[in-house]
Amino acid sequence: MSDADSLKVPFTKPSISQEEEQCVLEVMRSGWLTTGKYALQFENDFSHFMNKDESGKIRQNREKEGLSSAPVISLAVNSNTSGMILAMEACGVAPGTAVITTPYTFVSTAACARHLGADVFFADIEKNSYSIDVLAVESLLKKDAASFKPRIKAIVPVHIAGNVCNMQKLCALAKQYNVKVIEDSAHAFPSKTQLGYAGTIGDIGVFSFYVTKTITTAEGGMVCTRDQELAKRMTVMRMHGMDRTTWDRYTSPRASWEYDIVAPGYKFNLPDVLAAIGCCQLKRAESFFEKRSKIVQKYNKAFSTLDFVQLPPDGEGNSWHLYLLRIVPEKLKIGRDDFAKALQKKGIGISVHFIPLFHFTYWKSLYPDFTALNFPNAESAWSRTVSIPLWPDMTDEMAEEVINAVIAIGKEYHV
Ligand SMILES: *Cc1c(COP(=O)(O)O)cnc(C)c1O
Repeated sequence: MSDADSLKVPFTKPSISQEEEQCVLEVMRSGWLTTGKYALQFENDFSHFMNKDESGKIRQNREKEGLSSAPVISLAVNSNTSGMILAMEACGVAPGTAVITTPYTFVSTAACARHLGADVFFADIEKNSYSIDVLAVESLLKKDAASFKPRIKAIVPVHIAGNVCNMQKLCALAKQYNVKVIEDSAHAFPSKTQLGYAGTIGDIGVFSFYVTKTITTAEGGMVCTRDQELAKRMTVMRMHGMDRTTWDRYTSPRASWEYDIVAPGYKFNLPDVLAAIGCCQLKRAESFFEKRSKIVQKYNKAFSTLDFVQLPPDGEGNSWHLYLLRIVPEKLKIGRDDFAKALQKKGIGISVHFIPLFHFTYWKSLYPDFTALNFPNAESAWSRTVSIPLWPDMTDEMAEEVINAVIAIGKEYHV
């Protein structure tokens, strides 16, 4: 990978303004650094964001699908990974059970099930998108239900790049087989659909505020659910299994040392220093989204005239976290790796999302059938995909640089 400073267009860069700096200073000087009023504020603001458009139409659509239209509850956590562990734990994922997800994700999605002692049943992605294949999910559920002791507790779709999976069908299957839906929404803030925002459609949704994501707290995440029981369990497990939050212990009239431990919980809370950044970023989320969308339009317009690349899949309500450019191997003398290297050589930052999990030592040794051959769509998508720069503060000139680099490489290596 080239040194980011030597690149003309970095792959990504967080947009941090004076407001974020000011908020962090305020927290620093307040005397209360860890989870407190800013974390609470961030949760409330996030819930407000998710609930604000849930008027007639979305509510009706949800009810028609038999989905809850109770208000969204948000719980701030220190990463998406932590949030996924809380979500799975609350859904009964434990030794002897299993979850369904896809090999086309960041490794933490699947690793969380392993942390809880459960197995992962993998379903391939669809042929023309990066979304989990509903038919593959159904066949895993069917087989599991027919077994002596069904093990599947949850389906875990991943909204790759912010492009939302087929939630209507996945939720219907979950209902039919009595399992939960946990959305890995690390990329999908804000992806607005007719059933509500991604991450609020299934039983639980988990967002990431890692530094590369659509909004950031440096490290952090948010868990959303409309189910009060799930929210309660996750709140307790987020903080050592305590029946009281730290903030409550120091601000309520009950003695601060008094608490009970009801389970062996985790330590997954988001400190106020980071939550304060989140409050500012959340206010800017829609403007970030608009800026990314403009760059996407520019890219789409330029690339749609080229025969050696394919535009990213774009379903309903894409948050456009990433721009996944797919090369058309028949039209080029070089493969994805060399295409990516050529972009870097021209000063364009790139990344690859994601190396399918069956390529990793741990995962392929865990499940002998977990091979590229058995997941042809994930393998094919991965071998053609490169992520190009897409971030809110990118200038028009930077977008032009990227476009020109792609065009030049196409000219040089066209068959
Ligand atoms: C970034 C990412 C995660 C992990 O998020 P963290 O906040 O770093 O734990 C999980 N899933 C996907 C798809 C991601 O891209």
